[in-house]
Amino acid sequence: MTLTVCTGGTVLVGITVGGTRELSSAIAFDHTGVVALGADAEALREQADEMIDLKGGTLAPAPGDGHAHPVLGALEAAGPAVRQAEDLAGIVTAVAEWKAANPDAAWIVGGSYDATFAPGGRFDARWLDEATGDTPTVLRSWDYHTAWVNTAALDAAGITADTPDPELGRILRREDGRPLGTLQEAAANDLLTNVAPAFTLAQRVDAVERATREYAAIGMTWVQDAWVEPADVEHYLAAAEQGRLHTRVNLALRADPASWRDQPAEFTAQRARVRELSERLYGTVRGGASRLSADTVKFFIDGVIENHTAALSAPYADRPDDLGLPNWQRDELREAVAAFAAEGFQLHLHAIGDAAVSAALDALESLGALESRGNPEQPAAHTPHVIAHVAMLHPKDTARFAELGVIANFEPYWAQCDAVMRDLTIPHIGHGREGWQYLIGSVHNSGATISFGSDWPVTTKDWRPALSTAITRHSHLEPQAEAWLPDERVSAETAYAAYTTGIAAQAQAADRGTLHVGMAADAVWLSANPLTVDPTEIASILVNGTWLAGERTH
Ligand SMILES: [Zn+2]
Repeated sequence: MTLTVCTGGTVLVGITVGGTRELSSAIAFDHTGVVALGADAEALREQADEMIDLKGGTLAPAPGDGHAHPVLGALEAAGPAVRQAEDLAGIVTAVAEWKAANPDAAWIVGGSYDATFAPGGRFDARWLDEATGDTPTVLRSWDYHTAWVNTAALDAAGITADTPDPELGRILRREDGRPLGTLQEAAANDLLTNVAPAFTLAQRVDAVERATREYAAIGMTWVQDAWVEPADVEHYLAAAEQGRLHTRVNLALRADPASWRDQPAEFTAQRARVRELSERLYGTVRGGASRLSADTVKFFIDGVIENHTAALSAPYADRPDDLGLPNWQRDELREAVAAFAAEGFQLHLHAIGDAAVSAALDALESLGALESRGNPEQPAAHTPHVIAHVAMLHPKDTARFAELGVIANFEPYWAQCDAVMRDLTIPHIGHGREGWQYLIGSVHNSGATISFGSDWPVTTKDWRPALSTAITRHSHLEPQAEAWLPDERVSAETAYAAYTTGIAAQAQAADRGTLHVGMAADAVWLSANPLTVDPTEIASILVNGTWLAGERTH
């Protein structure tokens, strides 16, 4: 086992609850955790297996990603490179190039395209047909709530003018009722995924390895996979078994509004399999047993604003009769949440619209009432549940995260006035509610725990530009831009804490988030201190090294 001693730079030991940084001049750690700091660490120089000269850089607690889809993200690399396209024609060209390079492929499956390239997000099957011919093609948009398919795919799935919209989805139509080629929400996308060939286990294990290596390369050591179906557990178990899991991952199994009553038993069994393997493979190192976990259940409370499926408390500005598409009835949500919580699962609730956030808070509040009705001698251990995205928040709900002990998981990269905000968000919700979005500062100031994530591949998994955006509320690429909703900016300390101590709270890991003596040695070596450089320069800080439980992963 390797004792590593780092000197010659700044050690950011951690950020206190009050938001001040604790610094040291040196650190020593191994697989049992952080062994010593400062002069005590320097004194271990002679015993060190490895000496690291930080060269004026900073060693910091490693950040985590509180909400992402790593396998989807890595699998995108196997399909056409539509993400890099700069306009509609660019997507079609990428598809044509991929088809030319893979002439025998039975299907073309790719992601994720920019949904702002077609007016109103209405993508036409015929635009793809020219490039694809009769090879069925399905492309996912960057929010993964929408699919753009060609005519051959519509045929393969048997979707015609007579096909009704599924209960929780929409098939966009031409004026004569025939399908346009755009399918909204999982229930509609499933019409395609049920006929398109699935990725093989080997491809999916490769994707786990690729994703977790990429995370390690940007200094990250923990990822919340925010959407796992029971079959997906296999690729994670196989990757761990083969030594190809390069970060910690917690799996969130998706609760299905149609079949949730049968799921608690199945999910409990999956969680036990994951725990058993993780303990066997990694149990001997500090914080190792949780290298791979399946402690969480995911609920989609609603959809997304871009396609009018987010649930709002007052109608869409451009659709006076439309309140969006909630996925759960209120009472059923309460029952389902209680059923999974009773099995000890943490809940991770996707909520974008303000009505969805309210509904999620209500459901978690009802859970708290249930818990406190138990034996007062033995209060139930409080599980920190998570509401993810919190894109729109009714001002009346701001303080409820702190009151209920619910973690608000934000994707801070979205807190800027970019094309998605200007073209697909504000026109839908109206200017009156523009200021209800990504209230990171308000929620933090109310005393709640916040954690940050990326929702990769929706947006970049790189925490550096997102940290910058949380601090400045504008793109790191436009250093002179004005801050969007400037009152919601947070300090560099608060933002980095959301990636470290906030993530540790979400991961239910008492021994992570800081580098105090005894904590697990999950650390990143950066070329500069993200808390002291100009925020617009954070994105260009280099990651020189990453350690997970004292072991170098990058
Ligand atoms: Zn997501």
